[in-house]
Amino acid sequence: MTQDAGTARQRLSVADLEAWVRRSAELITEHAEELTDLDAAIGDADHGANMKRGLAAAVDTVGAGGFTAADALLKKVGTTLVSTVGGASGPLYGTFFLRTGSALAGQAGSDGLDAQALADGLEAGVGGIAARGRATAGEKTMLDAWRPALEALRAHPGDLAAGVAAAARAAAAGRDATKPMVATKGRASYLGERSVGHIDPGAASTALILAALDDVVAGRTA
Ligand code: ADP
Ligand code: MG
Repeated sequence: MTQDAGTARQRLSVADLEAWVRRSAELITEHAEELTDLDAAIGDADHGANMKRGLAAAVDTVGAGGFTAADALLKKVGTTLVSTVGGASGPLYGTFFLRTGSALAGQAGSDGLDAQALADGLEAGVGGIAARGRATAGEKTMLDAWRPALEALRAHPGDLAAGVAAAARAAAAGRDATKPMVATKGRASYLGERSVGHIDPGAASTALILAALDDVVAGRTA
């Protein structure tokens, strides 16, 4: 099933997932300098460059792919990110896409993913980030954007467009909520209390990836 740009989706096709990767790359590239500036404040100033490089490689992978199944596509994106992003965030985002893909094996079919299937997939992916990073909510990491996004999506089980729009808003709010937190995981934790007052770069990139998904679901991408 294909849908035109301009039409809100109630199901995500493989082509929509490819569009998600492409839109994520666009938004990450547009905001790469901001991500690096955030990382300069509480890390080592590489998050924007890391993510830009990784998403560009993911776009190449997707473009070369001829994918017909959601799980194969997302798993390939995951392995690409693991091998190209680097830093702490490469394995974490890589694990996210690998686990999301695995959870969706056989689910997308020709009709695509509905809100419930997407939420199940994302839950597995977010669980993968938590396991890999040994992180929990409130530690000033990307999880503080992913967790509220997942909850927001779950609150709209029958409405993909409303759920993803709410998830994107919740991720942005989660990103902003990392500002007063003390980092207790990753490089920023070396700063302890001095990490307070800065937004976490990984939470900021997660908010962009969810904004990209919202753009696709709302039909704002080509
Ligand atoms: P590095 O810190 O190795 O330079 P990046 O700058 O690319 O890697 O990514 C940093 C981001 O990774 C942080 O802003 C945070 O969101 C995320 N992160 C780091 N460590 C963890 C962890 N243990 N669990 C979850 N997220 C983490
Ligand atoms: Mg860094």
